[in-house]
Amino acid sequence: PATSMEELVSLCKRRGFIFQGSEIYGGLQGFYDYGPLGVELKNNIKAAWWRTNVYERDDMEGLDSSIIMHRQVLRHSGHEATFSDPMIDNKKNNKRYRLDHLVKDQKADVIAKVAELIGEDVANFPAVVAALNKKPAEASAALKTAGVRDPFSGEVGDWTEPKPFNMMFKTTIGPVADEESYGYLRPETAQGIFVNFKNVVDSTSRRLPFGIAQIGKAFRNEITPRNFIFRVRELEQMEIEFFCTPGTDEDWHQHWLDARLAWWEAQGIPRSKIDILDVPKEDLAHYSKRTYDLMYDYPTLGYEEIEGIANRSDYDLGSHTKAQNELNLTARVEENNDSIAKLTIPHPETNKPVVPFVIEPSAGVDRALLAVLSEAFTKETLENGNERIVLKLKPHLAPIKVAVIPLARNKSELVELARSIKSDLQKLGLGRILLEDSGNIGKAYRRHDEIGTPYCVTVDFDTIGQSAEGADQSLRDTVTIRDRDTLAQERIKISELSGWIAAHLK
Ligand code: ATP
Repeated sequence: PATSMEELVSLCKRRGFIFQGSEIYGGLQGFYDYGPLGVELKNNIKAAWWRTNVYERDDMEGLDSSIIMHRQVLRHSGHEATFSDPMIDNKKNNKRYRLDHLVKDQKADVIAKVAELIGEDVANFPAVVAALNKKPAEASAALKTAGVRDPFSGEVGDWTEPKPFNMMFKTTIGPVADEESYGYLRPETAQGIFVNFKNVVDSTSRRLPFGIAQIGKAFRNEITPRNFIFRVRELEQMEIEFFCTPGTDEDWHQHWLDARLAWWEAQGIPRSKIDILDVPKEDLAHYSKRTYDLMYDYPTLGYEEIEGIANRSDYDLGSHTKAQNELNLTARVEENNDSIAKLTIPHPETNKPVVPFVIEPSAGVDRALLAVLSEAFTKETLENGNERIVLKLKPHLAPIKVAVIPLARNKSELVELARSIKSDLQKLGLGRILLEDSGNIGKAYRRHDEIGTPYCVTVDFDTIGQSAEGADQSLRDTVTIRDRDTLAQERIKISELSGWIAAHLK
Protein backbone atom coordinates (compact mmCIF):
# COMPACT_ATOMS: atom_id res chain seq x y z
CA PRO A 1 0.00 0.00 0.00
CA ALA A 2 0.96 3.64 -0.38
CA THR A 3 2.79 5.15 2.58
CA SER A 4 1.94 8.77 1.81
CA MET A 5 -0.70 10.80 0.04
CA GLU A 6 2.08 12.55 -1.84
CA GLU A 7 3.19 9.49 -3.79
CA LEU A 8 -0.42 8.91 -4.89
CA VAL A 9 -0.92 12.54 -5.95
CA SER A 10 2.29 12.38 -7.93
CA LEU A 11 1.40 9.11 -9.67
CA CYS A 12 -2.09 10.39 -10.48
CA LYS A 13 -0.76 13.51 -12.16
CA ARG A 14 2.19 11.83 -13.90
CA ARG A 15 0.18 9.04 -15.48
CA GLY A 16 -3.10 10.85 -16.09
CA PHE A 17 -5.51 9.70 -13.40
CA ILE A 18 -6.43 13.01 -11.78
CA PHE A 19 -5.75 16.69 -12.49
CA GLN A 20 -6.54 19.87 -10.57
CA GLY A 21 -9.78 21.41 -11.90
CA SER A 22 -9.42 24.51 -14.10
CA GLU A 23 -5.67 24.10 -13.77
CA ILE A 24 -4.57 26.38 -16.63
CA TYR A 25 -6.31 29.28 -14.90
CA GLY A 26 -4.62 28.62 -11.60
CA GLY A 27 -6.91 25.85 -10.41
CA LEU A 28 -10.18 25.88 -8.48
CA GLN A 29 -10.01 24.62 -4.92
CA GLY A 30 -12.04 21.53 -4.18
CA PHE A 31 -12.55 20.53 -7.81
CA TYR A 32 -10.69 17.81 -9.70
CA ASP A 33 -10.80 16.40 -13.20
CA TYR A 34 -10.40 12.69 -13.90
CA GLY A 35 -8.02 12.05 -16.79
CA PRO A 36 -7.81 9.21 -19.36
CA LEU A 37 -7.01 6.56 -16.73
CA GLY A 38 -9.00 8.13 -13.89
CA VAL A 39 -12.24 8.01 -15.84
CA GLU A 40 -11.72 4.29 -16.56
CA LEU A 41 -10.93 3.45 -12.94
CA LYS A 42 -13.89 5.49 -11.72
CA ASN A 43 -16.27 3.88 -14.21
CA ASN A 44 -15.00 0.43 -13.21
CA ILE A 45 -15.59 1.12 -9.50
CA LYS A 46 -19.10 2.37 -10.20
CA ALA A 47 -19.83 -0.62 -12.46
CA ALA A 48 -18.64 -3.03 -9.75
CA TRP A 49 -20.90 -1.34 -7.20
CA TRP A 50 -23.88 -1.40 -9.56
CA ARG A 51 -23.30 -5.06 -10.45
CA THR A 52 -23.19 -6.15 -6.82
CA ASN A 53 -25.99 -3.96 -5.52
CA VAL A 54 -28.44 -3.99 -8.42
CA TYR A 55 -27.80 -6.87 -10.85
CA GLU A 56 -26.80 -9.54 -8.35
CA ARG A 57 -29.74 -8.91 -6.03
CA ASP A 58 -33.45 -9.42 -6.52
CA ASP A 59 -34.62 -6.69 -4.19
CA MET A 60 -33.13 -3.60 -5.81
CA GLU A 61 -34.01 -1.05 -8.49
CA GLY A 62 -31.83 1.66 -10.03
CA LEU A 63 -32.43 5.40 -10.46
CA ASP A 64 -30.78 8.45 -11.99
CA SER A 65 -32.47 11.59 -10.67
CA SER A 66 -31.68 15.20 -11.50
CA ILE A 67 -28.94 17.18 -9.79
CA ILE A 68 -30.79 20.48 -9.43
CA MET A 69 -33.75 20.08 -7.12
CA HIS A 70 -36.81 22.03 -6.03
CA ARG A 71 -35.99 24.11 -2.97
CA GLN A 72 -38.88 22.48 -1.10
CA VAL A 73 -37.08 19.13 -1.34
CA LEU A 74 -34.05 20.44 0.50
CA ARG A 75 -36.21 22.41 2.90
CA HIS A 76 -38.29 19.44 3.99
CA SER A 77 -35.31 17.10 4.03
CA GLY A 78 -33.87 19.30 6.77
CA HIS A 79 -30.86 20.45 4.74
CA GLU A 80 -31.81 24.15 4.69
CA ALA A 81 -31.89 24.26 8.47
CA THR A 82 -29.13 21.85 9.41
CA PHE A 83 -26.75 21.00 6.57
CA SER A 84 -24.01 23.23 7.84
CA ASP A 85 -20.52 23.08 9.26
CA PRO A 86 -19.22 25.43 11.95
CA MET A 87 -17.14 28.23 10.49
CA ILE A 88 -14.72 30.59 12.19
CA ASP A 89 -12.75 33.59 10.88
CA ASN A 90 -9.34 34.91 11.79
CA LYS A 91 -9.76 38.69 12.00
CA LYS A 92 -6.03 39.20 11.47
CA ASN A 93 -5.95 37.92 7.88
CA ASN A 94 -9.62 37.32 7.01
CA LYS A 95 -9.01 33.59 6.50
CA ARG A 96 -11.93 31.32 7.16
CA TYR A 97 -11.79 27.78 8.60
CA ARG A 98 -13.98 24.89 9.52
CA LEU A 99 -13.87 24.99 13.31
CA ASP A 100 -13.31 21.29 13.97
CA HIS A 101 -10.57 21.06 11.33
CA LEU A 102 -8.86 24.12 12.77
CA VAL A 103 -8.80 22.74 16.32
CA LYS A 104 -7.88 19.20 15.24
CA ASP A 105 -4.82 20.53 13.39
CA GLN A 106 -3.35 22.27 16.47
CA LYS A 107 -0.60 20.87 18.69
CA ALA A 108 -1.81 18.45 21.38
CA ASP A 109 -1.24 20.88 24.29
CA VAL A 110 -3.26 23.59 22.51
CA ILE A 111 -6.15 21.19 21.88
CA ALA A 112 -6.06 20.12 25.53
CA LYS A 113 -6.17 23.77 26.63
CA VAL A 114 -9.18 24.50 24.36
CA ALA A 115 -11.01 21.48 25.77
CA GLU A 116 -10.26 22.56 29.34
CA LEU A 117 -11.40 26.14 28.73
CA ILE A 118 -14.69 25.03 27.18
CA GLY A 119 -15.18 22.48 29.98
CA GLU A 120 -15.02 19.21 28.02
CA ASP A 121 -12.90 16.08 28.05
CA VAL A 122 -10.23 16.29 25.36
CA ALA A 123 -10.62 12.56 24.69
CA ASN A 124 -14.15 13.21 23.40
CA PHE A 125 -13.36 15.46 20.45
CA PRO A 126 -16.91 15.66 19.03
CA ALA A 127 -18.12 16.86 22.44
CA VAL A 128 -15.45 19.59 22.45
CA VAL A 129 -16.61 20.78 19.02
CA ALA A 130 -20.27 20.62 20.07
CA ALA A 131 -19.52 22.74 23.14
CA LEU A 132 -17.59 25.29 21.06
CA ASN A 133 -20.63 25.59 18.80
CA LYS A 134 -23.09 25.94 21.61
CA LYS A 135 -21.15 28.71 23.35
CA PRO A 136 -19.85 30.99 20.57
CA ALA A 137 -18.56 33.77 22.85
CA GLU A 138 -16.69 31.36 25.12
CA ALA A 139 -15.40 29.54 22.05
CA SER A 140 -13.87 32.67 20.59
CA ALA A 141 -12.23 33.48 23.94
CA ALA A 142 -11.01 29.89 24.44
CA LEU A 143 -9.33 29.76 21.03
CA LYS A 144 -7.54 33.04 21.70
CA THR A 145 -6.47 32.11 25.24
CA ALA A 146 -5.26 28.66 24.20
CA GLY A 147 -3.19 30.22 21.43
CA VAL A 148 -4.83 28.52 18.46
CA ARG A 149 -2.67 29.25 15.42
CA ASP A 150 -3.75 30.13 11.91
CA PRO A 151 -2.69 27.22 9.64
CA PHE A 152 -1.98 29.69 6.83
CA SER A 153 0.14 32.30 8.65
CA GLY A 154 1.35 30.10 11.50
CA GLU A 155 0.60 32.89 13.95
CA VAL A 156 -1.85 32.91 16.85
CA GLY A 157 -5.17 34.09 15.42
CA ASP A 158 -7.75 36.66 16.50
CA TRP A 159 -10.79 34.41 16.33
CA THR A 160 -14.41 35.43 15.73
CA GLU A 161 -17.33 33.57 17.22
CA PRO A 162 -18.08 30.40 15.26
CA LYS A 163 -21.26 30.34 13.23
CA PRO A 164 -22.94 27.70 11.08
CA PHE A 165 -22.18 27.82 7.37
CA ASN A 166 -24.69 26.09 5.08
CA MET A 167 -22.87 23.99 2.51
CA MET A 168 -25.52 23.84 -0.21
CA PHE A 169 -24.89 25.46 -3.58
CA LYS A 170 -27.88 27.54 -4.66
CA THR A 171 -28.60 28.48 -8.25
CA THR A 172 -31.17 30.56 -10.10
CA ILE A 173 -33.55 28.74 -12.42
CA GLY A 174 -35.05 30.25 -15.56
CA PRO A 175 -34.65 33.67 -17.18
CA VAL A 176 -36.22 35.73 -14.41
CA ALA A 177 -34.30 35.79 -11.15
CA ASP A 178 -36.68 36.63 -8.33
CA GLU A 179 -37.05 35.60 -4.70
CA GLU A 180 -38.72 32.35 -5.65
CA SER A 181 -36.83 31.17 -8.71
CA TYR A 182 -33.98 29.30 -7.11
CA GLY A 183 -33.10 25.67 -6.58
CA TYR A 184 -30.27 23.74 -5.01
CA LEU A 185 -27.59 21.49 -6.39
CA ARG A 186 -28.21 18.34 -4.40
CA PRO A 187 -25.79 17.86 -1.50
CA GLU A 188 -26.41 14.09 -1.59
CA THR A 189 -28.06 11.79 -4.12
CA ALA A 190 -30.38 10.35 -1.46
CA GLN A 191 -33.10 12.99 -1.72
CA GLY A 192 -33.65 12.10 -5.37
CA ILE A 193 -34.49 8.58 -4.22
CA PHE A 194 -36.94 9.67 -1.51
CA VAL A 195 -38.88 11.99 -3.81
CA ASN A 196 -39.16 9.17 -6.38
CA PHE A 197 -40.24 6.53 -3.88
CA LYS A 198 -43.86 6.55 -5.05
CA ASN A 199 -42.90 6.61 -8.74
CA VAL A 200 -40.72 3.55 -8.35
CA VAL A 201 -43.27 1.65 -6.26
CA ASP A 202 -46.10 2.44 -8.68
CA SER A 203 -44.11 1.57 -11.80
CA THR A 204 -42.46 -1.64 -10.53
CA SER A 205 -45.10 -3.02 -8.11
CA ARG A 206 -42.39 -3.51 -5.50
CA ARG A 207 -43.39 -4.60 -2.02
CA LEU A 208 -41.34 -4.36 1.17
CA PRO A 209 -38.49 -4.99 1.60
CA PHE A 210 -36.71 -3.47 -1.38
CA GLY A 211 -34.15 -0.81 -2.17
CA ILE A 212 -33.26 1.87 -4.71
CA ALA A 213 -29.68 2.48 -5.80
CA GLN A 214 -28.26 5.59 -7.36
CA ILE A 215 -24.82 6.81 -8.41
CA GLY A 216 -24.28 10.47 -9.16
CA LYS A 217 -22.74 13.81 -8.46
CA ALA A 218 -23.40 15.78 -5.30
CA PHE A 219 -22.18 19.24 -4.35
CA ARG A 220 -21.02 20.60 -1.01
CA ASN A 221 -19.50 24.02 -0.54
CA GLU A 222 -16.90 22.69 1.91
CA ILE A 223 -15.30 25.47 3.94
CA THR A 224 -11.87 23.91 3.68
CA PRO A 225 -11.61 21.36 0.88
CA ARG A 226 -8.36 19.46 1.28
CA ASN A 227 -6.46 16.21 1.17
CA PHE A 228 -6.61 15.74 -2.58
CA ILE A 229 -9.86 14.04 -3.64
CA PHE A 230 -10.75 13.08 -0.06
CA ARG A 231 -12.70 16.29 0.59
CA VAL A 232 -13.96 18.02 -2.53
CA ARG A 233 -16.79 20.39 -3.39
CA GLU A 234 -18.05 18.36 -6.33
CA LEU A 235 -18.17 14.70 -5.37
CA GLU A 236 -19.80 11.54 -6.54
CA GLN A 237 -21.80 9.20 -4.36
CA MET A 238 -23.03 5.62 -4.57
CA GLU A 239 -26.12 5.45 -2.39
CA ILE A 240 -28.74 2.90 -1.50
CA GLU A 241 -31.98 3.60 0.28
CA PHE A 242 -33.30 0.26 1.46
CA PHE A 243 -36.94 0.33 2.54
CA CYS A 244 -38.12 -2.17 5.11
CA THR A 245 -40.94 -2.85 7.56
CA PRO A 246 -40.50 -1.08 10.91
CA GLY A 247 -39.18 -3.66 13.36
CA THR A 248 -37.02 -5.41 10.76
CA ASP A 249 -34.73 -2.39 10.41
CA GLU A 250 -32.06 -3.54 12.86
CA ASP A 251 -31.58 -6.86 11.06
CA TRP A 252 -31.38 -5.12 7.70
CA HIS A 253 -28.87 -2.66 9.13
CA GLN A 254 -26.62 -5.59 10.10
CA HIS A 255 -27.21 -7.20 6.69
CA TRP A 256 -26.02 -4.09 4.87
CA LEU A 257 -23.01 -3.65 7.12
CA ASP A 258 -21.88 -7.19 6.25
CA ALA A 259 -22.70 -6.80 2.56
CA ARG A 260 -20.81 -3.56 2.25
CA LEU A 261 -17.71 -4.89 4.03
CA ALA A 262 -17.69 -7.86 1.64
CA TRP A 263 -17.90 -5.50 -1.32
CA TRP A 264 -14.96 -3.40 -0.16
CA GLU A 265 -12.93 -6.56 0.28
CA ALA A 266 -13.75 -7.62 -3.30
CA GLN A 267 -12.36 -4.28 -4.48
CA GLY A 268 -9.03 -4.97 -2.80
CA ILE A 269 -9.60 -3.20 0.52
CA PRO A 270 -8.80 -5.76 3.20
CA ARG A 271 -11.13 -6.03 6.17
CA SER A 272 -8.18 -5.23 8.44
CA LYS A 273 -7.87 -1.72 6.95
CA ILE A 274 -11.47 -0.75 7.79
CA ASP A 275 -12.61 0.22 11.28
CA ILE A 276 -16.31 0.12 12.05
CA LEU A 277 -17.28 3.17 14.09
CA ASP A 278 -20.58 2.60 15.89
CA VAL A 279 -21.38 6.30 16.13
CA PRO A 280 -22.14 7.22 19.78
CA LYS A 281 -25.74 8.26 20.46
CA GLU A 282 -24.82 11.86 21.30
CA ASP A 283 -22.98 12.31 17.97
CA LEU A 284 -25.77 10.90 15.77
CA ALA A 285 -27.45 13.11 13.17
CA HIS A 286 -30.97 14.04 14.21
CA TYR A 287 -32.57 11.60 11.76
CA SER A 288 -30.47 8.61 12.69
CA LYS A 289 -31.45 5.75 14.96
CA ARG A 290 -27.98 4.22 14.61
CA THR A 291 -25.06 4.74 12.23
CA TYR A 292 -21.98 2.73 11.38
CA ASP A 293 -19.19 4.74 9.80
CA LEU A 294 -16.68 2.67 7.87
CA MET A 295 -13.30 4.24 8.48
CA TYR A 296 -10.49 3.41 6.06
CA ASP A 297 -6.85 3.86 7.00
CA TYR A 298 -5.82 6.43 4.35
CA PRO A 299 -2.11 7.17 3.88
CA THR A 300 -1.05 10.35 5.71
CA LEU A 301 -4.63 11.00 6.97
CA GLY A 302 -5.18 7.86 9.05
CA TYR A 303 -8.66 6.47 9.68
CA GLU A 304 -11.31 8.60 7.94
CA GLU A 305 -14.86 7.91 6.74
CA ILE A 306 -15.19 6.12 3.41
CA GLU A 307 -18.86 5.12 3.82
CA GLY A 308 -21.68 5.75 6.24
CA ILE A 309 -24.38 3.13 6.86
CA ALA A 310 -27.29 4.73 8.67
CA ASN A 311 -30.59 3.53 10.03
CA ARG A 312 -32.66 6.61 9.18
CA SER A 313 -35.91 5.27 10.61
CA ASP A 314 -39.04 6.75 8.96
CA TYR A 315 -37.54 10.25 9.03
CA ASP A 316 -37.08 10.85 5.28
CA LEU A 317 -40.34 9.56 3.86
CA GLY A 318 -42.06 10.95 6.95
CA SER A 319 -40.62 14.39 6.21
CA HIS A 320 -41.61 14.37 2.53
CA THR A 321 -45.09 12.89 2.84
CA LYS A 322 -48.40 14.68 3.04
CA ALA A 323 -50.88 13.77 5.77
CA GLN A 324 -48.12 13.26 8.34
CA ASN A 325 -50.57 13.23 11.22
CA GLU A 326 -52.38 10.11 10.01
CA LEU A 327 -49.25 8.00 9.71
CA ASN A 328 -47.98 7.20 13.22
CA LEU A 329 -44.48 8.39 12.45
CA THR A 330 -41.78 7.47 14.96
CA ALA A 331 -39.29 10.14 13.84
CA ARG A 332 -39.65 13.76 14.84
CA VAL A 333 -40.34 15.57 11.55
CA GLU A 334 -41.08 19.15 10.60
CA GLU A 335 -44.60 19.88 9.41
CA ASN A 336 -45.06 19.48 5.65
CA ASN A 337 -47.94 21.27 3.89
CA ASP A 338 -46.25 21.33 0.49
CA SER A 339 -45.98 17.68 -0.57
CA ILE A 340 -48.76 16.33 -2.76
CA ALA A 341 -47.99 12.64 -2.25
CA LYS A 342 -48.62 10.13 0.50
CA LEU A 343 -45.41 8.12 0.83
CA THR A 344 -46.74 4.87 2.18
CA ILE A 345 -46.71 1.26 1.02
CA PRO A 346 -48.84 -1.68 2.16
CA HIS A 347 -47.47 -3.47 5.23
CA PRO A 348 -46.47 -6.95 3.95
CA GLU A 349 -48.54 -8.70 6.65
CA THR A 350 -51.50 -6.45 7.42
CA ASN A 351 -51.75 -4.63 4.07
CA LYS A 352 -52.34 -1.41 6.01
CA PRO A 353 -50.42 1.62 4.64
CA VAL A 354 -47.12 2.09 6.43
CA VAL A 355 -44.18 4.49 6.12
CA PRO A 356 -41.17 2.20 5.78
CA PHE A 357 -37.92 2.49 7.70
CA VAL A 358 -34.81 3.20 5.68
CA ILE A 359 -31.30 1.77 5.82
CA GLU A 360 -28.85 3.94 3.90
CA PRO A 361 -25.40 2.72 2.82
CA SER A 362 -23.76 5.84 1.37
CA ALA A 363 -20.28 5.66 -0.12
CA GLY A 364 -18.18 8.28 -1.88
CA VAL A 365 -16.81 7.37 -5.30
CA ASP A 366 -13.82 9.70 -4.95
CA ARG A 367 -12.93 8.34 -1.52
CA ALA A 368 -13.37 4.80 -2.87
CA LEU A 369 -11.02 5.52 -5.76
CA LEU A 370 -8.44 6.99 -3.40
CA ALA A 371 -8.61 3.91 -1.17
CA VAL A 372 -8.43 1.50 -4.10
CA LEU A 373 -5.38 3.30 -5.50
CA SER A 374 -3.76 3.45 -2.11
CA GLU A 375 -4.19 -0.29 -1.45
CA ALA A 376 -2.98 -1.24 -4.94
CA PHE A 377 0.10 0.98 -4.82
CA THR A 378 3.19 -1.20 -4.39
CA LYS A 379 6.90 -0.43 -4.44
CA GLU A 380 9.02 -3.50 -5.16
CA THR A 381 12.72 -4.18 -5.41
CA LEU A 382 13.36 -6.60 -8.25
CA GLU A 383 16.01 -9.37 -8.32
CA ASN A 384 18.33 -7.14 -10.34
CA GLY A 385 18.12 -4.48 -7.64
CA ASN A 386 15.88 -2.15 -9.64
CA GLU A 387 12.84 -0.64 -8.00
CA ARG A 388 9.47 -0.71 -9.67
CA ILE A 389 6.13 0.85 -8.84
CA VAL A 390 3.21 -1.40 -9.64
CA LEU A 391 -0.51 -0.90 -9.10
CA LYS A 392 -1.83 -4.29 -8.04
CA LEU A 393 -5.42 -3.44 -8.92
CA LYS A 394 -8.05 -6.14 -9.09
CA PRO A 395 -8.34 -6.88 -12.84
CA HIS A 396 -12.00 -5.77 -12.98
CA LEU A 397 -10.90 -2.31 -11.79
CA ALA A 398 -7.81 -1.89 -13.97
CA PRO A 399 -8.16 1.11 -16.35
CA ILE A 400 -6.44 -0.78 -19.18
CA LYS A 401 -7.10 -4.52 -19.32
CA VAL A 402 -4.44 -5.46 -21.86
CA ALA A 403 -1.71 -3.51 -23.64
CA VAL A 404 -0.78 -4.93 -27.03
CA ILE A 405 2.78 -3.96 -27.87
CA PRO A 406 4.50 -4.33 -31.26
CA LEU A 407 8.21 -4.79 -30.49
CA ALA A 408 9.27 -2.28 -33.13
CA ARG A 409 7.31 0.78 -34.07
CA ASN A 410 8.78 1.11 -37.56
CA LYS A 411 8.00 -2.44 -38.68
CA SER A 412 4.56 -2.20 -40.23
CA GLU A 413 3.92 -5.97 -40.19
CA LEU A 414 4.33 -5.97 -36.39
CA VAL A 415 2.21 -2.88 -35.90
CA GLU A 416 -0.60 -4.09 -38.15
CA LEU A 417 -0.71 -7.50 -36.48
CA ALA A 418 -0.76 -5.83 -33.04
CA ARG A 419 -3.58 -3.59 -34.20
CA SER A 420 -5.66 -6.52 -35.35
CA ILE A 421 -5.00 -8.41 -32.08
CA LYS A 422 -6.08 -5.32 -30.15
CA SER A 423 -9.25 -5.10 -32.20
CA ASP A 424 -10.09 -8.77 -31.53
CA LEU A 425 -9.49 -8.44 -27.78
CA GLN A 426 -11.57 -5.27 -27.66
CA LYS A 427 -14.54 -7.29 -28.92
CA LEU A 428 -14.51 -9.36 -25.71
CA GLY A 429 -16.14 -6.38 -23.98
CA LEU A 430 -13.84 -6.48 -20.96
CA GLY A 431 -13.01 -2.78 -21.03
CA ARG A 432 -10.25 -0.78 -22.63
CA ILE A 433 -7.53 -2.60 -24.60
CA LEU A 434 -4.65 -0.38 -25.64
CA LEU A 435 -2.39 -0.50 -28.69
CA GLU A 436 0.92 0.58 -27.16
CA ASP A 437 3.18 1.46 -30.06
CA SER A 438 5.52 3.91 -28.36
CA GLY A 439 8.42 1.76 -29.55
CA ASN A 440 10.29 1.26 -26.29
CA ILE A 441 9.28 -2.02 -24.69
CA GLY A 442 11.07 -1.32 -21.38
CA LYS A 443 9.27 2.00 -20.96
CA ALA A 444 5.97 0.42 -21.97
CA TYR A 445 6.30 -2.28 -19.31
CA ARG A 446 7.18 0.31 -16.66
CA ARG A 447 4.21 2.45 -17.60
CA HIS A 448 1.78 -0.45 -17.57
CA ASP A 449 3.08 -1.63 -14.20
CA GLU A 450 2.45 1.83 -12.81
CA ILE A 451 -1.07 2.09 -14.16
CA GLY A 452 -2.00 -1.46 -13.19
CA THR A 453 -2.49 -3.14 -16.58
CA PRO A 454 -2.83 -6.85 -15.71
CA TYR A 455 -1.37 -8.18 -18.98
CA CYS A 456 0.96 -6.96 -21.70
CA VAL A 457 0.86 -8.88 -24.97
CA THR A 458 3.96 -8.46 -27.11
CA VAL A 459 4.13 -9.07 -30.84
CA ASP A 460 7.79 -9.70 -31.77
CA PHE A 461 9.84 -10.87 -34.73
CA ASP A 462 9.28 -14.54 -33.85
CA THR A 463 5.56 -13.88 -34.17
CA ILE A 464 6.01 -13.08 -37.86
CA GLY A 465 8.75 -15.67 -38.43
CA GLN A 466 11.54 -13.12 -38.83
CA SER A 467 13.72 -13.47 -35.75
CA ALA A 468 17.25 -12.16 -36.24
CA GLU A 469 19.03 -15.38 -35.19
CA GLY A 470 17.25 -17.40 -37.85
CA ALA A 471 13.58 -17.74 -37.11
CA ASP A 472 12.29 -20.58 -34.97
CA GLN A 473 9.22 -21.32 -37.08
CA SER A 474 7.48 -23.06 -34.18
CA LEU A 475 7.09 -19.59 -32.63
CA ARG A 476 5.28 -18.24 -35.64
CA ASP A 477 1.82 -16.86 -34.81
CA THR A 478 2.55 -16.84 -31.11
CA VAL A 479 2.81 -13.83 -28.77
CA THR A 480 4.15 -13.38 -25.25
CA ILE A 481 1.90 -12.52 -22.35
CA ARG A 482 3.54 -10.75 -19.43
CA ASP A 483 1.89 -10.94 -16.02
CA ARG A 484 1.93 -7.63 -14.11
CA ASP A 485 2.29 -9.14 -10.64
CA THR A 486 4.59 -12.14 -11.18
CA LEU A 487 6.44 -10.75 -14.22
CA ALA A 488 6.21 -14.27 -15.67
CA GLN A 489 6.15 -14.41 -19.47
CA GLU A 490 4.29 -17.05 -21.35
CA ARG A 491 4.14 -17.74 -25.09
CA ILE A 492 0.78 -18.54 -26.51
CA LYS A 493 -0.81 -19.01 -29.95
CA ILE A 494 -2.64 -15.95 -31.27
CA SER A 495 -5.62 -18.18 -32.00
CA GLU A 496 -5.85 -19.03 -28.29
CA LEU A 497 -5.25 -15.51 -27.01
CA SER A 498 -8.85 -14.29 -26.75
CA GLY A 499 -9.91 -17.36 -24.80
CA TRP A 500 -6.92 -17.06 -22.47
CA ILE A 501 -7.52 -13.36 -21.77
CA ALA A 502 -11.27 -13.86 -21.28
CA ALA A 503 -10.61 -16.68 -18.81
CA HIS A 504 -8.03 -14.71 -16.85
CA LEU A 505 -9.91 -11.42 -16.70
CA LYS A 506 -13.37 -12.71 -15.83
P1 ATP B 1 -17.33 14.05 6.52
O1 ATP B 1 -17.70 13.91 7.97
O2 ATP B 1 -16.02 13.43 6.16
O3 ATP B 1 -17.51 15.45 6.00
P2 ATP B 1 -20.00 13.22 6.00
O4 ATP B 1 -20.27 12.49 7.27
O5 ATP B 1 -20.49 14.59 5.81
O6 ATP B 1 -18.41 13.19 5.72
P3 ATP B 1 -21.94 11.82 4.49
O7 ATP B 1 -22.84 12.97 4.49
O8 ATP B 1 -22.23 10.65 5.37
O9 ATP B 1 -20.44 12.33 4.79
O10 ATP B 1 -21.72 11.35 2.99
C1 ATP B 1 -21.60 10.00 2.60
C2 ATP B 1 -20.29 9.72 1.89
O11 ATP B 1 -20.05 10.68 0.87
C3 ATP B 1 -19.08 9.81 2.79
O12 ATP B 1 -18.87 8.59 3.46
C4 ATP B 1 -17.98 10.10 1.82
O13 ATP B 1 -17.49 8.89 1.23
C5 ATP B 1 -18.65 10.92 0.75
N1 ATP B 1 -18.37 12.36 0.95
C6 ATP B 1 -19.02 13.21 1.74
N2 ATP B 1 -18.51 14.45 1.65
C7 ATP B 1 -17.49 14.39 0.77
C8 ATP B 1 -16.58 15.34 0.22
N3 ATP B 1 -16.62 16.61 0.57
N4 ATP B 1 -15.66 14.91 -0.68
C9 ATP B 1 -15.62 13.61 -1.05
N5 ATP B 1 -16.46 12.68 -0.58
C10 ATP B 1 -17.39 13.04 0.32
